[in-house]
Amino acid sequence: MRVLSHLFANNRAWAAEMIRREPDFFARLSGVQAPPYLWIGCSDSRVPANQIVGLLPGEMFVHRNVANVVVHTDLNCLSAIQFAVEVLRVEHIIVCGHYGCGGVLSALRDEKLGLIDNWLRHVQDVKSKHRIQLAGLASEAQRHDCLCELNVIEQVVNVTQTTVVRHAWARGQALAVHGWIYKLTDGLLRDLGMCVTAEAELARCYESALADAAAEPAAARIPEAPSVENGVRTQKGPGMA
Ligand SMILES: [Zn+2]
Repeated sequence: MRVLSHLFANNRAWAAEMIRREPDFFARLSGVQAPPYLWIGCSDSRVPANQIVGLLPGEMFVHRNVANVVVHTDLNCLSAIQFAVEVLRVEHIIVCGHYGCGGVLSALRDEKLGLIDNWLRHVQDVKSKHRIQLAGLASEAQRHDCLCELNVIEQVVNVTQTTVVRHAWARGQALAVHGWIYKLTDGLLRDLGMCVTAEAELARCYESALADAAAEPAAARIPEAPSVENGVRTQKGPGMA
């Protein structure tokens, strides 16, 4: 009980299975880390980054926090972005939110939970910025879905405004910043139409994504069939059985 032995047993079984599939898997992986993606997602236990996009260890650099927020003074997130962009030289940064996000709901309801209220204040800023659009929705469930989407769109903007990303684009480094959302009830990702590859694209992408979010919530859409575009596998990857 005190050493959580079932988790160690799971670990041994997992490591043995990986070796059975590829005998030098760990030896190969220990040599170098060269993932093409940085994932910025929610800490929610139901949204495990690698698993939902079918990627193996070594294929995605991951940063997660409550409600997938990118704050300009958060050294933790900024350090992850800087290391991913300048050292690992990832080609894609994916901000992925999810419907049913408890952090977003707390922000929507203005709940008082303690210290975390300060963190979720950033989501409340998104709520305040888009209060007219949110007020026009009939139910709390719709406002919750919409705020989850708007939060992703605004966090993509925040990523593109970091000095790290601005400097990368200025020196000609290929780097795309994406905004996606995951639906807990069907296990599928939706693309929110935010794919920014240069500073000059930001305003147009932002306006377009906001218009899409206002016209038809992505939650109601059935995502397109799996495809490979710009090197990002949107739904199926090599690690998927
Ligand atoms: Zn969440």
